[in-house]
Amino acid sequence: MIAEAPPQPVPTLVQTIGRSVTGRPIRVVRRGADDAAVDVLIVGVIHGNERAGLDVLRQLRYATPPAGVRLWLIPTVNPDGERRRTRQNARGVDLNRNYPGGWQPIGSPWQTYYPGRAAASEPETRAVQALVRRVRPDVTLWYHQHANRVIRPAGGWSLIVARSYARTSRLPLLSWPPLRGTATGWQRAVDPTSAPLVIELPAGPVRGAPLRRHVAAVWDVARLAVAWCAKDPRRCR
Ligand SMILES: [Zn+2]
Repeated sequence: MIAEAPPQPVPTLVQTIGRSVTGRPIRVVRRGADDAAVDVLIVGVIHGNERAGLDVLRQLRYATPPAGVRLWLIPTVNPDGERRRTRQNARGVDLNRNYPGGWQPIGSPWQTYYPGRAAASEPETRAVQALVRRVRPDVTLWYHQHANRVIRPAGGWSLIVARSYARTSRLPLLSWPPLRGTATGWQRAVDPTSAPLVIELPAGPVRGAPLRRHVAAVWDVARLAVAWCAKDPRRCR
């Protein structure tokens, strides 16, 4: 009888990438080999009252990513809002309107889409910007609720990734009117190959078969990125 090799532990590192307005840490869990060709960044929560992405990240946290893939898991980029169950951060800012590139002043704190007093005025935004610049992800998934769709990007690599995620997760791939000051808009401007996608989960928690489909959808887009990088290494590191 041939003994099966024991599973290799996945190298895992937890880093604090910044702090919220009230000083709560914003953490990223890096999971995968140092020499992985592909980096996949996944944000569970940016709006504190849209928390279903945490269900998916909890599964990914202890799973083994496909060969050649390194995961960067940020459970929440809005720890104050997540604690208070508010969309906004502790200063009443919608963090997904606070990013540079199309930022515009509108409204006042605690209004639904208040974008802050200036682009990147919030420490939570700056923490994400620094990480994105450092990691240069090949795929980026931002979980939201509860519009029940993968928001359709205009084209290119992002659309290829979005189609794959939609197919495996069984969420419809549907467009959304353009918004200003979003994280994905900023990412597209500074790093078009980072495939920043918005995944709008349905209302409520994600459990059972749908949860397994979302985990499978993450693995599918990660494998797609590995194949894409192998075909054209100049586009990846
Ligand atoms: Zn949202």
